[in-house]
Amino acid sequence: KAKNNGRGSYAFHTDAMTRQVRRDAALTDRIDQAVRSGELFLHYQPQVELASGRITAVEALVRWRHPVEGILPPGDFVHLAERRGLFHVLGSWVLSTAAREARRWHDQGLAFGRVSINVSPQQVRAGCLADDVLATAEETGLDPARLELELTETAMMEYGEHYRTQIAVLRDLGVRLVLDDFGTGFSSLTYLRRSAVSTLKIDRQFVLELDDNTDAVETVRALLAVAQALDLDTVAEGVETREQAARLAAMGCRCAQGMWFAPPMEANAIERHLREGFIRPE
Ligand code: C2E
Ligand code: MG
Ligand code: MG
Ligand code: MG
Repeated sequence: KAKNNGRGSYAFHTDAMTRQVRRDAALTDRIDQAVRSGELFLHYQPQVELASGRITAVEALVRWRHPVEGILPPGDFVHLAERRGLFHVLGSWVLSTAAREARRWHDQGLAFGRVSINVSPQQVRAGCLADDVLATAEETGLDPARLELELTETAMMEYGEHYRTQIAVLRDLGVRLVLDDFGTGFSSLTYLRRSAVSTLKIDRQFVLELDDNTDAVETVRALLAVAQALDLDTVAEGVETREQAARLAAMGCRCAQGMWFAPPMEANAIERHLREGFIRPE
């Protein structure tokens, strides 16, 4: 109906937008409480070394079990938390929860490699990241060398001195830094070198296009060449097919993550996965 008349169509869009704004506002109002009342939980997705199938890391991905809306993905609420200034509440909850669960895997002798945590640019900007990591290590007993932080290009590029001080502390602790969604930003080689990341995580849009798009093949080749030139490790995200995995391996990408290997799983499921020996010991 709305399609056939200009006014109807306009009304339709504004209704949808109003609904979205209301929903965002309602979610925003609940986030703080959601963190405190245990409505958030983490999924974990393994990263594997392509050549061996060995699990090299497990990425923590936050979800919200909303009493009315069901399970919400981070795309629905992380930006809202950040806009409300709740990045610290959310960020430190994710950090300490992931570290506590990883400590339990460690105690059970499960070889998970490292636990990888997504960090928002605001955590870096606020300057609390290194302190949070220190506090978490103390509180959970997890060796910080088992931690990996995933930063985006925005997080790394904006914050000159501030960034470098925190990063120096983190590096001293043995924390590894990963550049997430690599290829979607504008990092120059100089920036990448200065950023102190040790791994480039190739964004899934390039992996997806690998199937039938020759431009994407060249793009992935170029991204891998950058990694090689700077002597950085590589992970491809969003690998969904055997062909994608094979191509990436043939092009020299070392590790991969995606549905082809394993979906993001709840803590008990990843434990089972680790225990059932989808991995070889380190
Ligand atoms: P990301 O860090 O790039 O995470 C990868 C996303 O790809 C995840 O979406 C994951 O579930 C999804 N994925 C995994 N395998 C496949 C696959 O084979 N195909 C496709 N199409 N997708 C796959 P998710 O969990 O919805 O997270 C979205 C984004 O939200 C993450 O992107 C990350 O930027 C952010 N995020 C997640 N957890 C946190 C968190 O604790 N803190 C912050 N600040 N951001 C987070
Ligand atoms: Mg990530
Ligand atoms: Mg990513
Ligand atoms: Mg991504």
